[in-house]
Amino acid sequence: MNSLRAAVPLARRFDSVTLVVSDVDDTLAPPFRDISASLAHALTRLVGKGTILFLVSGQSIGNIERRVVRAFPRPLRRRILVGHCHGAEVFGYDRTGRRVTAPLFSVRDGAAMEGAFGKALTIVTSVLNDHGIAASSPGILLEDRGVQVTVDFPGHPAAGRREELVTALNERLAEAGLSVEARPAGHLGIDIMTRGVDKSLALRRLLTPVSSRGGQAYRLTTPDGQVAGVWDGIEVWGDQFSPPDLDADLRMLAALPPGVRAVNFGPPASLPGIRTARSPGPAGVLDYLARSESG
Ligand SMILES: [Mg+2]
Repeated sequence: MNSLRAAVPLARRFDSVTLVVSDVDDTLAPPFRDISASLAHALTRLVGKGTILFLVSGQSIGNIERRVVRAFPRPLRRRILVGHCHGAEVFGYDRTGRRVTAPLFSVRDGAAMEGAFGKALTIVTSVLNDHGIAASSPGILLEDRGVQVTVDFPGHPAAGRREELVTALNERLAEAGLSVEARPAGHLGIDIMTRGVDKSLALRRLLTPVSSRGGQAYRLTTPDGQVAGVWDGIEVWGDQFSPPDLDADLRMLAALPPGVRAVNFGPPASLPGIRTARSPGPAGVLDYLARSESG
């Protein structure tokens, strides 16, 4: 373990990074796979010196904990926040590394959401059925995540019919009067989520600008209470900064003042102010953490 840690020293400039807001899939780990030991060690160093890691991902809380959070020493997990289901709900951890039961933020708190996803699940099953697809087929994963329903087609030809399925789903969800909508998710799935939820929502709810410091500072709500920081100390990491279709991570910037550092670990996106990393994906993050240059 020591030799691994020595192999990935953090660049000095991370001394001033107080908060990293990061996507998970294709940024910290390949989809469905765990974070690598070397990247987990480098991020453990970062969190160990006080930086807060705020993960915002379309995956479920269980999935993110299994693949990423579990790789951190328990006492350090109190500096990790997880916005699962695109940030529809955010959880933190206590000093023993246990997830705090009450979320820091949840779309469930809206009374209109009561039972909405249970009904959405029934509609998904019925729409699949109308298209000659049995929801119970091998290669189809249907999951009610409480704040989102997800259908994944990792081994099913229906993955190629996502567009017509999304259209049909949205018709039926609207007919039922539910304030949820279906959207393509990743490369193989469909998410049914609360209308208006994207990766900016959780950040807007938990990061509060502090006016007394000339607009330079924020407070972040954590299980330990409010933590102060300056916007200059924030970095946003992701792999989807390409509008109109692959822009899930770009949305995060909508919740932050202009000029907050964003690093793209995905395909080059020619947007002003977004830096594209030397190499993509988790290997790119590891390289970026060790580089002395910030360019
Ligand atoms: Mg991603």
